[in-house]
Amino acid sequence: MRRNFLKLFSASVISLILFPYKYLYSATKKIINQNLTEQQKHILFNEGTERPFTSSLLYEKRDGFYHCANCDAKLFSSNTKYDSGTGWPSFTEALPGAFNTKTDYSFGMKRVEYHCAKCGAHHGHVFDDGPGENGMRFCNNGLCLIFKPTN
Ligand SMILES: [Zn+2]
Repeated sequence: MRRNFLKLFSASVISLILFPYKYLYSATKKIINQNLTEQQKHILFNEGTERPFTSSLLYEKRDGFYHCANCDAKLFSSNTKYDSGTGWPSFTEALPGAFNTKTDYSFGMKRVEYHCAKCGAHHGHVFDDGPGENGMRFCNNGLCLIFKPTN
């Protein structure tokens, strides 16, 4: 009995050391859209980034809303989208309550990362060099978004 408990205990300690990420995020992040591609999952759940200038959404100019590719939450309105020249779909503002932010220190840089408030999936980083009044630039992976035109 005691031995089994110890075995179980050490197994969970080992997995905590090996997979802290899994434990930290399993509570808040979950795959809702079962049709996500491997690349989408990598970006949404492992904080990945798509190659710049690869998203077809860069050229999307219609009116509408950008939704989370995982949970379908409405995240951005087309009237806050602009061409930042960075190669990723960029927005000056997110819809109220769409995201939670977290400071990310990877790659030796301090960046503010944002996650979908509804499903916890990673979408991109927000910078303070935007052209709008609030000075914000939401740099979003196109693969994390689904555009739904209003007309
Ligand atoms: Zn979501």
